[in-house]
Amino acid sequence: MIVLVINAGSSSLKYQLLNMQENKVMAGGVVERIGDTLGVVTHKKLTGAAPEKFVREEKIADHRDAMHLVADLIIDEHAGVIKNKDEINAIGHRVVQGGEDFRAATVIDADIKKSIEKNNPLAPLHNPPNLMGIDVAEALFPGIINIAVFDTEFHQTMPAKAFLYALPYEFYEKMRVRRYGFHGTSHKYVARAAAVHMDKPVDELNLITVHLGNGCSISAVEKGRCIDTSMGMTPLAGVMMGTRTGDIDPAIQRYVMENTGMGVDEMDTLFNKKSGLKGICGMNDMRDIHDAGENGNQRAKLAVDMFTYQVKKYIGAYMAALGRVDGIIFTAGIGENDDIVRAGVCADLSGLGMELDLEKNRGRISEPKALHTPESRVQIWVIPTNEELQIAQEVVDILQAQKK
Ligand code: AMP
Repeated sequence: MIVLVINAGSSSLKYQLLNMQENKVMAGGVVERIGDTLGVVTHKKLTGAAPEKFVREEKIADHRDAMHLVADLIIDEHAGVIKNKDEINAIGHRVVQGGEDFRAATVIDADIKKSIEKNNPLAPLHNPPNLMGIDVAEALFPGIINIAVFDTEFHQTMPAKAFLYALPYEFYEKMRVRRYGFHGTSHKYVARAAAVHMDKPVDELNLITVHLGNGCSISAVEKGRCIDTSMGMTPLAGVMMGTRTGDIDPAIQRYVMENTGMGVDEMDTLFNKKSGLKGICGMNDMRDIHDAGENGNQRAKLAVDMFTYQVKKYIGAYMAALGRVDGIIFTAGIGENDDIVRAGVCADLSGLGMELDLEKNRGRISEPKALHTPESRVQIWVIPTNEELQIAQEVVDILQAQKK
């Protein structure tokens, strides 16, 4: 079974073509700078003895152009991996915000598109391009089933006490102001993969999944179901991130606006693009921050200290929420690659049953790996995330259920 996974952003379109019988990526890539004077597509063919990379620069006017390019590349004589686009069995689309309407992956039709559109105000930067990706795929691959997989669906199992904000209740009733959580596909993937490696059914495990990338979120997963997560109504909440504040006192907004004359839009940019690690030390990539810290940059050291401290506090909170924790699972760019951050997060937690083996923790980790000492009551793992594989798996599950 061949599944095309599409992740359409505002000016980019990421894709992967997966052979699900073999659990293998056949090809994948990203179309960037859609709408700019010069766009670029980076395509990787992965079916040969060694990966082959193809880069093309040309004007890519819109998402339709981008999807045309992808369709041409996957059947291209040199870069392609299939002969005909009809070989694709289904298309899985990442959709960021499914609101309370979607608790599972869903076959897309006109009504479903309307329901997704209804959630646009909750994700104005993400859902419209996601929908555009769906429209273009429908036009370009007629007759092939399209399935939406939502970033929010894994978190829909949270109880009201975890997802509600302490605002007047009618804000929830009338405007659906609540915690939704994001990165759900990643949290779900690593929780399930961790269970396989821990050799126990996921519904017998309590896990804390720690997704630390450009965006960061942490989830408490009880017996395979999310019971709390750090991101909120938007992906701005939770721990500090590359350029996002994470949790801050909401009264800061008014105070800064009154003292600087900044408007709402400027505050939005400040909180989303100029804060987090970047706000503290001027850099948002952990590799640069560690380099600067080693060269004596005190702000860079402070940024790492703040980051690890905030992640540690969420882990402590979710240990209390779960009562018993079997595993802490690190994933995504920082979680997988950054031994300094992992060590900082796990430091001095032996009182809570967590003991990191510093030797096992060393370096970048690209395969699932246990990092705890034999004495550690709580297991500590790195599980590299694979959101595309999770989306494709959910697509396959739906197709198989339809056959029954
Ligand atoms: P992601 O959003 O999961 O792609 O993660 C991207 C982030 O991971 C980058 O902004 C870096 O901060 C971080 N990252 C990637 N590679 C490394 C590395 N080798 N060491 C430390 N951090 C890394």
